[in-house]
Amino acid sequence: IDYASYLKGWIRAVPDWPHKGVMFRDITPLLQNPKTFRMLIDVFVHRYMDQDIDLIAGLDARGFIIGSVLAYELNVGFVPIRKKGKLPYTTIAEEYELEYGNATVEMHTDACKPGDRVILVDDLVATGGTMMAGYHLLQKLGADVIEAAAIIELPELGGGKLVREDGLPLFTICSFS
Ligand code: 5GP
Repeated sequence: IDYASYLKGWIRAVPDWPHKGVMFRDITPLLQNPKTFRMLIDVFVHRYMDQDIDLIAGLDARGFIIGSVLAYELNVGFVPIRKKGKLPYTTIAEEYELEYGNATVEMHTDACKPGDRVILVDDLVATGGTMMAGYHLLQKLGADVIEAAAIIELPELGGGKLVREDGLPLFTICSFS
């Protein structure tokens, strides 16, 4: 079985959401079906199980769903990278550009230690802004970010290229154009 095209078939396209002209890639069918959810997580587990990973960092909010299960399966810890104002303890912040305006993500200052081998997880890479912001936070704390991982990449938006050119390997299961 070609797992990538099988999993891709469980991603729903929602036209004109969250606004007109956007084709939103909805992963909820993939998560809802126990067989595809397990297959999805297993792809990541097998990729990272022998890589001596210390920590999974998940991006708010769909990165939490995949990242926490992956961390559990790899028997490593999980840290959240959250949208501004959500984390209670001392934080570091990184601002980045959106299509309209800016956004900020934050991480706790004790979320990882220098040299920790980290995988950064989200559901989708579009412009790459979110992934890069998470990468910069982890770098500020001295983490060794081994790879960024996502289910989906949108090559036309150039984010995957940007991330890879910045020196962060990126693994994605499928892409949509
Ligand atoms: P970027 O920062 O790469 O432009 O956008 C990626 C972020 O926006 C990710 O956190 C992702 O969850 C969200 N996102 C943007 N477009 C989509 C989409 O079509 N489907 C899903 N599932 N997430 C999206």
